[in-house]
Amino acid sequence: MDVTPRTIPIVPSSTRNPALEYLTTKKDEFVGWARKFSLFPYPFVTACCAMEFMAVSSTPYDTDRFGAALPRFSPRQSDLLMVVGTVTHKQAPILRKVYEQMCEPKWVMAFGACATSGGFYQNYAAVAGIDRIVPVDVYVPGCPPRPETVIDAIMQLQDRIARQRHPIVTRNF
Ligand code: SF4
Repeated sequence: MDVTPRTIPIVPSSTRNPALEYLTTKKDEFVGWARKFSLFPYPFVTACCAMEFMAVSSTPYDTDRFGAALPRFSPRQSDLLMVVGTVTHKQAPILRKVYEQMCEPKWVMAFGACATSGGFYQNYAAVAGIDRIVPVDVYVPGCPPRPETVIDAIMQLQDRIARQRHPIVTRNF
């Protein structure tokens, strides 16, 4: 049996690259930066807030400036679920299924008063806020919300994405 003690190779300090070593401490920030400017929204549009969604997607507001303009109509290809409008109890299971079909990491935006809290629909049919069905990352107030409010919400979400830890970043990555 080989009892020779194993030695750990020591990299001589002359071959170390401090700039590269510094960059390896910033991996999370790199991934966050890349992710925050490559959002692919899935618009779950049910009601009148849709007009505002179209307004914010077009000129002069243009969410493309934030890397979030290209809607994907397949949950498997999107990472930002934008719930735009009123959600009824009948639609709730569908919304949940769409959310579950999206790949990780994923984020959710409640777009407008109805998605946030049910709005003025205090009745048996409307869900009083989509956070009863899916976890919400950012709420956009207003009935309907102004495009500036939506852009502000996108920027807040981007800040959050940039600061969060990313599980794909490991010691060896
Ligand atoms: S928040 Fe207002 S504009 Fe938006 S879906 Fe509800 S009622 Fe319509």
